[in-house]
Amino acid sequence: MSAPAGLPVLPGTVSPAGQPATLGVMGGGQLGRMFVHAAQRLGYFTAVLDADPQSPAGRVSHHHIQTGYSDPAGLAQLAGLCAAITTEFENVPAGALQTLAASRPVAPGAAAVAIAQNRIDEKSHFTACAEVAGATCAPYAVIETPAQLQAVAADLLPGILKTARMGYDGKGQVRVKNAAELAAAWADLKQVPCVLEKLMPLRAEYSVIVARGWDGTVVSFPPQRNVHVDGILAVTHAYASNMPAAQAERAQAATKNIANHLNYVGVLCVEFFVVDDGSTHGGLIVNEMAPRPHNSGHYSIDACDVSQFDLQVHAMAGLPLPAPRQHSPAIMLNLLGDVWFDAAGQARTPDWQAVLALPGTHLHLYGKPDARPGRKMGHITITGADVAGVLAVARRAAELLGLPGMDA
Ligand code: ATP
Ligand code: MG
Repeated sequence: MSAPAGLPVLPGTVSPAGQPATLGVMGGGQLGRMFVHAAQRLGYFTAVLDADPQSPAGRVSHHHIQTGYSDPAGLAQLAGLCAAITTEFENVPAGALQTLAASRPVAPGAAAVAIAQNRIDEKSHFTACAEVAGATCAPYAVIETPAQLQAVAADLLPGILKTARMGYDGKGQVRVKNAAELAAAWADLKQVPCVLEKLMPLRAEYSVIVARGWDGTVVSFPPQRNVHVDGILAVTHAYASNMPAAQAERAQAATKNIANHLNYVGVLCVEFFVVDDGSTHGGLIVNEMAPRPHNSGHYSIDACDVSQFDLQVHAMAGLPLPAPRQHSPAIMLNLLGDVWFDAAGQARTPDWQAVLALPGTHLHLYGKPDARPGRKMGHITITGADVAGVLAVARRAAELLGLPGMDA
């Protein structure tokens, strides 16, 4: 695909009409906030569309359009302000991205985002490019009708029933042991379209983040190892020894292929499982993708020469895509709202004094006004000269804050 008219958007320029080069983002969460920071550092003005007056990205952006994602006036205002537009929230209605794309370059495009929004379409895409991608999905069945429920093969159980749409952080998922539990779970989910996935014996979870440009250039971060607690990412390990080299190459190649087959433009994250049964593609299973920067890539801000957010800016604006280079081993610890409460449930301020005294700690808080259990409030990245040192500091930080996941 060649770049649409209007690209590249050169940083720091002003149009003849006096409009500073402005980049826009659909969604105002923490991913949008880190995008805004990256864009502003390059000299761009930014615009965020999010209905929440206190959204993390809206509060740090030059412009904050406070409307719903499909509001015609809001979309028109965003297109009027911005030379190019991206998204930070995968459930932005694809129709809204299509509307914007009629007048402005939008990356990623509506078609790719629509596939990532629906697990059924996503799995079809993975299956369609499985051979070239070098990784397959876990065995699964689509359940949209009672007949499909009845026809589920016994060897898919025990499994995980996942809604086709709107799942995140383990929401919209039910673990089921047998056919009766499966039927009950689907009824509880109001019989919306679902996939049933076989429960796999996970040895480890990884993700790979790539950025692809309008000209088809793809650059990749190395695979990160991710530890989830209660379905939410808790810890990301980002250093070379976290995955055997051949498997890491395979996962990166698979992610690039998936991006190429979508004709994708922007930052894409693909999540992988590694299972003990090495018979299929070396035990590499592709789980799902996110059409945006990913929580597991936040370490790249502090540990790489270009971050996933820098590459999001470059890709959408039609700037060159330099291959990222990681200069320090890193561990990222997610800070959920739980950290703001003590064991008795009393509100507290975490002991930042102690944490920030540790070498190589980088605290990122997203500016969310109210801490709630399970809510992503921020993260800490720990960098250092070697993996052993980074692990030791991360363990100490986790201990000081009562964070789970450093033992996995
Ligand atoms: P997120 O958006 O936070 O990545 P999600 O809600 O979209 O999560 P998944 O990534 O599909 O959901 O699943 C969440 C977690 O549940 C996975 O990271 C993994 O730990 C576990 N899990 C999901 N599918 C399977 C499976 N088939 N077998 C074993 N464990 C699984
Ligand atoms: Mg996931």
